[in-house]
Amino acid sequence: MSPGAILAAPLMAPAPMQITCRLEFDSGHRIPYHQSQCRHLHGHRYGIEITLSGDTIATEGSPRQGMVMDFSDVKTIAKRELVDVWDHAFLVYRGDRTVVDFLSSLPDHKTVVLPTVPTAENLAVEAFAILDQAYQDFYGNHLRLERVRLFETPNSWADAMRGGGTDG
Ligand SMILES: [Zn+2]
Repeated sequence: MSPGAILAAPLMAPAPMQITCRLEFDSGHRIPYHQSQCRHLHGHRYGIEITLSGDTIATEGSPRQGMVMDFSDVKTIAKRELVDVWDHAFLVYRGDRTVVDFLSSLPDHKTVVLPTVPTAENLAVEAFAILDQAYQDFYGNHLRLERVRLFETPNSWADAMRGGGTDG
């Protein structure tokens, strides 16, 4: 292999690719019917990993040449649509009337009422549904959300995936 081989012609066909961004946020929750610790009001430093698929943009001279999506755009959308909404909020199941009523008695409290019990699994599904609306095929490179991985602790997480019963 000659040294010149490193300058071989660039890939002409768009290449399928996945990219992932990680963000973190702090939220309160409880699992109302849990038989142990989780029924108490408490919080977590949640992590969320957002995986998008698409073709690598091949357009010569585009600011996104060689990218599926600029990571800063991935994060901006995630923050606007989800992370800033859930950060420092209490995530509460709408059927958990005791806590819903208590939180609504607090002036200007940041509360997010959810249709499901806020386990990591259900939060991943909720986040997937919200973010799936937000990431569109902006650049004609088949961009779409593939997976949301929601960390409740550094060692425990849940994955909501396209085709896994989370899309509709
Ligand atoms: Zn918890």
